[in-house]
Amino acid sequence: MATDLRTVDLATIRNIGIMAHIDAGKTTTTERILFYTGITYKIGEVHDGAAVMDWMEQEQERGITITSAATTCHWKDHTINLIDTPGHVDFTVEVERNLRVLDGAVAVFDGVAGVEPQSETVWRQADRYGVPRMCFVNKMDRVGAEFHRCVEMIVDRLNATPLVLQLPLGSEADFIGVIDLVNMRALTWRGEPEKGEDYTIEDIPATHTEAAREWRDRLFEALAEADDEIMELYLEGQEPTTEQLQTAIRRATIASKVTPVLCGTAFKNKGVQPLLDAVVDYLPSPLDVGSVTGHSLKSEEEILERDPDEEAPLATLAFKIMSDPHLGKLTYLRIYSGTLTSGTQVLNSTKDRKERIGKIYRMHANKREEIEKATAGSIVAVMGLKQTTTGETLCDPNQPIILESMNFPAPVISVA
Ligand code: GDP
Repeated sequence: MATDLRTVDLATIRNIGIMAHIDAGKTTTTERILFYTGITYKIGEVHDGAAVMDWMEQEQERGITITSAATTCHWKDHTINLIDTPGHVDFTVEVERNLRVLDGAVAVFDGVAGVEPQSETVWRQADRYGVPRMCFVNKMDRVGAEFHRCVEMIVDRLNATPLVLQLPLGSEADFIGVIDLVNMRALTWRGEPEKGEDYTIEDIPATHTEAAREWRDRLFEALAEADDEIMELYLEGQEPTTEQLQTAIRRATIASKVTPVLCGTAFKNKGVQPLLDAVVDYLPSPLDVGSVTGHSLKSEEEILERDPDEEAPLATLAFKIMSDPHLGKLTYLRIYSGTLTSGTQVLNSTKDRKERIGKIYRMHANKREEIEKATAGSIVAVMGLKQTTTGETLCDPNQPIILESMNFPAPVISVA
């Protein structure tokens, strides 16, 4: 029997973007995610408190800033590639390009302002590309923050089907955590993030149990509308188990039938942990997204498919070119299929020119990691590409494909 040489479990990868109206808290949320995953990764890696402190001090001095077009972090045995999605309407073409390379997205809203016009624009673009989404109602600590009003706006303005998975616990300055309706427990931010502690898991306070039960029933009902298995249980009057709920939420989210809604505050390190859990639990992996299509060099009519598999022919898309102060020109690639190896020759099929792959980097918040190879599902930065610009395909010279067909619908830009 042939040995399976595959090295990466694609099911553990999430390529996601964070989209938001300006000021909703995209930067803060992203930085918290990178900071927090950095700490926990270090703890998992070295089991040494001193190293954690080093990392913290270093980061406090420098501050974590996201300068990379895609940053890799790790959460609960998963690799999350955060792809920077420009939020401004002026960058609409760039937003579209980025939506093309991500598998799922988190929309961040300001708990006071709710759904704002720019979020509507990006939301509609994501609709067109069929990008499964989750919502994070941020700034729940602010005076005037109202979770349920935001949920209503998600229905009215975005025409989405929200699936409320959490309720806020306390409000404004007394906002202390969330009620997790899937597991029926309270998550509060009382622990010490410096020690890598999780949020604390507690019983739902008695004053909230009725509301929690009612909202869990609503969650069950809304999910029944979207998922046959849950509908069956619903009709039989049976309660789903937590596992059944989670599986159904994942299925319905990936099918873009529902949009899970969470709430919190990016002001707390631990505020992003339940969000990270939900990214891992509900947003799709490259395997869920499946194969990509493109066309042959000869004809746009000749449609070709590439599987998310490291053993398949190489097919990648350049989605961003950046100038790194130390490395010079870096081309960010999303690898859809096959394996990209440093030093090899690939074909820029869009231009029909050969290119040589220089050094390959995986970009993290605090370091870049040089790697020899990168496999399907990953997002990397590559040095040495001379002729490739954004939107172009790099592929196996012997099995060429052009990935980005130009027949996307023309962007509809609504500026409110
Ligand atoms: P972006 O434009 O979406 O990237 O938003 P930023 O992350 O830069 O945040 C905009 C402003 O809101 C900044 O002043 C942040 O400090 C603040 N902010 C972000 N998250 C929160 C939050 O959870 N609570 C409160 N009160 N303010 C927040």
